[in-house]
Amino acid sequence: MEKITKILLSENEMPRQWYNIMADMPNKPLPPLNPATGKPVGPEDLSVIFPMELIKQEVSTERYIDIPDEVLDLYRTFRPSPLYRARNLEKALGTKSKIYYKYEGGNYSGSHKANTAIPQAYYNKMEGVRRITTETGAGQWGSAMSFACNHFGLDLLVFMVRVSYNQKPGRKLMMNTYNARVVPSPSTMTAAGRSVLEADPDSPGSLGIAISEAMEIAAQDPYTKYALGSVLNHVILHQTIIGQEAMIQMEMAGDYPDVVIGCFGGGSNFSGISFPFLRENFVNGKKTRLVAIEPASCPKLTKGKFTYDFGDQSGMTPLLPMYTLGHNFIPDKIHAGGLRYHGAGVLVSQLRKDGFVEAKAKFQRECFEAAILFARSEGILPAPESSYAIAGALDEARRADLEGVSKTILFNLSGHGHFDITAYEKYFEGNLPDHEATTEEINQSLVNSAVPTF
Ligand SMILES: *Cc1c(COP(=O)(O)O)cnc(C)c1O
Repeated sequence: MEKITKILLSENEMPRQWYNIMADMPNKPLPPLNPATGKPVGPEDLSVIFPMELIKQEVSTERYIDIPDEVLDLYRTFRPSPLYRARNLEKALGTKSKIYYKYEGGNYSGSHKANTAIPQAYYNKMEGVRRITTETGAGQWGSAMSFACNHFGLDLLVFMVRVSYNQKPGRKLMMNTYNARVVPSPSTMTAAGRSVLEADPDSPGSLGIAISEAMEIAAQDPYTKYALGSVLNHVILHQTIIGQEAMIQMEMAGDYPDVVIGCFGGGSNFSGISFPFLRENFVNGKKTRLVAIEPASCPKLTKGKFTYDFGDQSGMTPLLPMYTLGHNFIPDKIHAGGLRYHGAGVLVSQLRKDGFVEAKAKFQRECFEAAILFARSEGILPAPESSYAIAGALDEARRADLEGVSKTILFNLSGHGHFDITAYEKYFEGNLPDHEATTEEINQSLVNSAVPTF
């Protein structure tokens, strides 16, 4: 076999459809519930905040959904994304295993978020929406949405989690450059923000709070809709372009992954790379393991509870059946801002409950260490979020070596860390604390996050 390091696809080889795991799941997820009635939410309930086409995708059981031409046109500016064999990382580890990674940081937004920002902006535009509101944690989603909205002629208002707003001024300026307005959250613009500030004027914010603020504004105006960067089924659908490309590329490399790994915030990049491979498990008897890596400070998959909970802090979303730490949970201020979300998407939650998805929690220092080894071997500076996936891949390689076997490992490098350089500085200074959410804190949060029962 010829030595392969970088596997590129041509534009013509890019998949033209997204893959919907709902068609192949053995157990379909429970329905989202209207918190006022306890009945499953209908399309009308959601149409206040989302365009109809995305609502249809949210509940669709079609296996493949066509990607519109206008979306393909923008995808082509940065897709297909490259798949690399991490030969230098393998050498640095001295491992017998093969490590591959799909790099999603090479687009304008610097992360996989562009894959869903573009179709979300497109469908809103098609349905006459004029303005979009959204939240952003670390700023990658806000950046992705800013460019996509401006491209389709939509205004964008972004609520940026305050701790990230302070840590990452570069991301805010990038969003401004793409023509978006950015407000630190919690803010005084909304009732949700004001009530948090009343209780804690120094609140660092959370994704849950920022979502409440963005939804509150969208609900007040028929021409304003809301967009979410992770968690929801339609977001995960859009991200499956990653795994579908990776499957073709692995075949070109003459390999097939024993394990697929992604870092885990709400589940979109992990699901995006792994669900097409999970389909092969379901349909063609493959045995690939799927491993999600989450922060020990926000461990919904490993320490959370599977239950109905709100997707936001103030209870504006439907009740979602998911692994959660409670919608009032405020995670510690780790640098992987994109992983500071209290819940896991409904699809991954059901698949985890049914035993098809493994999960592991990690401390941020170990992940930065992995990111630095990766940067020094492969030359790409990873986003703090992505470093969790790298640490997960290193675990798999080391374990295989201890067992004396060689594995084929594939992980998603969800983004670059060019805006996160001060986090690296803190690591080098030895100023990066390890946080762990204790069982006690989580139980307390779940008590504080009670939801209506029926
Ligand atoms: C947002 C983000 C994540 C986490 O979100 P998921 O929906 O779980 O993928 C991970 N990596 C990067 C680079 C991000 O921007």
